[in-house]
Amino acid sequence: MPSTLSNPYDILAFHAEAGVDIALEEAPQNRFEEAAEPAPVVAMPVAAKAPLPAFTPRPQAPAAPISMAAPAAPDEAALEAREMASKAASLDELHEILKRFDGCALKKTAKNLVFADGTPGARVMFVGEAPGADEDREGLPFVGRSGKLLDLMMNAIGLDRTSAYIANIVPWRPPGNRTPTPQETAICLPFIKRQIELANPDFLICLGKPSMQTLLHVAEGIKAGRGKWRDFETGTRTIKAMATFHPAYLLRSPNEKKFAWRDMLALKKALAS
Ligand code: URA
Repeated sequence: MPSTLSNPYDILAFHAEAGVDIALEEAPQNRFEEAAEPAPVVAMPVAAKAPLPAFTPRPQAPAAPISMAAPAAPDEAALEAREMASKAASLDELHEILKRFDGCALKKTAKNLVFADGTPGARVMFVGEAPGADEDREGLPFVGRSGKLLDLMMNAIGLDRTSAYIANIVPWRPPGNRTPTPQETAICLPFIKRQIELANPDFLICLGKPSMQTLLHVAEGIKAGRGKWRDFETGTRTIKAMATFHPAYLLRSPNEKKFAWRDMLALKKALAS
């Protein structure tokens, strides 16, 4: 931290800009002090025994540091995820299984598991990348600014959360809204695949490049890859899938909204046919 920062607001702003927007522990820890040599223990001679001083409780030791390592190697965790996801016979069961799953380190820093919103069994399912701060706080996907835009996009073609089902590739918020690592994505992938299979929509809409590339195995970028119907194998049947721009991207690049509008019209047409 720059030594010139003394105003608490500046210090907070410095951390926020650096992406440090969550506290992992109740009390701050001074890692510089930890590195210092422990004071040598000196045995007191028996003869010098003095009356014990009044007991003063020591300040509570800070909680043990949270380990950021996943309990299992990523490959092992992905295998375990596959096995656990395949056991879910319903979305409720899958939700319960995910609550118990400890193989993804993101669970440790997230406030909530963000499983889904909307209506299971709806004809349309939207899948984003990962929850942000608002979603993490509420435990529901797409409730922040980009979620409001997603609602408007759905409303524009006569959909809402009663006629669509919404989830993310990764159901825990990555700290500081960073992009999930390929390992985190691989670990969570069996769960979202099973979620799609159990939700059984007629149409799958991938919101943004990570969702498109992960679920549809499309190597191109979102500008080239969006707006095309593709086949998605749910595991039990083939459904139609399309990628469109992520609402968060549309908030930053409103000029692209016309393309997302085309994609929503294509969805509306497909729903009507
Ligand atoms: N962005 C996403 O990809 N998912 C959310 O739930 C919110 C923002």
